[in-house]
Amino acid sequence: MRKIIPLFLSIFLLISCTTNQTKKDNTNQQKKNVILVIADGAGPNIMNYLMEYARLAPKSPYKDKKSNLEKMFDLGKNGIMLNYTDKTIVTDSAAAATQFATGAKTNPYAIGVDANGKKVNSVLYNAKQKGYATGVLTDVYVLDATPAAFYAHRVNRKMRDGIIEDMTITQPDIVLGGGLNYFVSKADLKNARYQELFKNVPYLNQVKGQAKQDDNLTKVLDSGYNLAFTKQEMENLNDGKILGLFAPVFFPPYPPADWQGPTLLDMTKKAISVLSENEKGFFLLVEAGAIDWVAHENDPQALLQELLEFDETLGYLKKFADTNKDTLVIVTADHDTGGFGFNYYTPRNSKKEDYNAFEKFTALQNGKNLIYDVYQKYKTLPEEQKNSVTIKKMFKEDLGFEGNLDFLNDEEDFYSAFLHYWKEQGIVWSTQKHTNAPLFVVFYGNNTNINKNILHNTDLFKIMNNYFKK
Ligand SMILES: [Zn+2]
Repeated sequence: MRKIIPLFLSIFLLISCTTNQTKKDNTNQQKKNVILVIADGAGPNIMNYLMEYARLAPKSPYKDKKSNLEKMFDLGKNGIMLNYTDKTIVTDSAAAATQFATGAKTNPYAIGVDANGKKVNSVLYNAKQKGYATGVLTDVYVLDATPAAFYAHRVNRKMRDGIIEDMTITQPDIVLGGGLNYFVSKADLKNARYQELFKNVPYLNQVKGQAKQDDNLTKVLDSGYNLAFTKQEMENLNDGKILGLFAPVFFPPYPPADWQGPTLLDMTKKAISVLSENEKGFFLLVEAGAIDWVAHENDPQALLQELLEFDETLGYLKKFADTNKDTLVIVTADHDTGGFGFNYYTPRNSKKEDYNAFEKFTALQNGKNLIYDVYQKYKTLPEEQKNSVTIKKMFKEDLGFEGNLDFLNDEEDFYSAFLHYWKEQGIVWSTQKHTNAPLFVVFYGNNTNINKNILHNTDLFKIMNNYFKK
């Protein structure tokens, strides 16, 4: 008996130790999530535009006058991020995204390959190999440079058929955005095989069929993706891999009344709810891509619209990180677009300098026509009507602009009128392209391992990749 008791005891101790150990492991091994939010084209002055609008606009939508972006800057760890490429001062979205997705320096146009054109693995690929769920989502097209750099390897961002093929190989669990236009060819649009599928596409009449190869969609379906073309269809899909294509190319800044697609926030919520099923955690890229598109058009009204949508998504992500402790949210940009800024100026019929306030801008915002709509209207005019006479008439009648546009020559020159119009409101743009402005970056949530204040965008890869290691 004496010998048996210690044996029982030791077995009991062994069992209880094991149970305790298991419990301990479970609590220590919380899910690890990394959410990278890229405000495409949002250089520091564009991010500041959102923060100052929240604080200073008479009709600020924020009760506490603080955007979610600013709240994250307030509570997170901040840095300045540089984005030079292997050889150039200025970057495009492709090189920038490749650099933060893979950690390799590269050249403009490159997607998921280094400066020598050699394939490099992304943080998304690595996370997937380790058993994490993965996703990318954007409000421009899903094959565009920023999302593509996480799942594709092509020397040129325009090799879209190849990018689709790579998507079916890497297979992120979630791919949401626009871009049906680049998935289907003209022949596919007429092919009987797809007619049943196309019945679900509410925007089919706008799809031009710009894929060079036929049958990309067959490849996508064969690789196991379920397709969604509307917000409702997206909500109904709960398992398997999801590819959502909600627009021919990108989400318009002012969605039309018959728009059936989701918002950036809707997509983010859906992606997180699906990816959270994974017991290890997930990697998700959220791209507010249309910020870049409207900044290329130098349109501060549409830009504000896009920034507010981006910030709405940040509000949700901030709460998610607050309640899911092992989550790291990184918010930054890939580059600046437009060299945007407010300046002080002397208004017409005045001698006094005006240091600018949002009152006047808000009045413009509530004016009878948005400059975005006026420009879209101009684009659809027959070629022979596209001239300075029409432009002057449209600025006067549609926008109530009293300034002098006599400097316009008789060619199509809407952009010059546009720039002049904004200059008279104290808003300046230095280019329609990208600049090399250094970027803001904030690490929010589980950011204990970040100890650099000035980063290069390749550092983001290292930070995210290390996070999944532990
Ligand atoms: Zn751009």
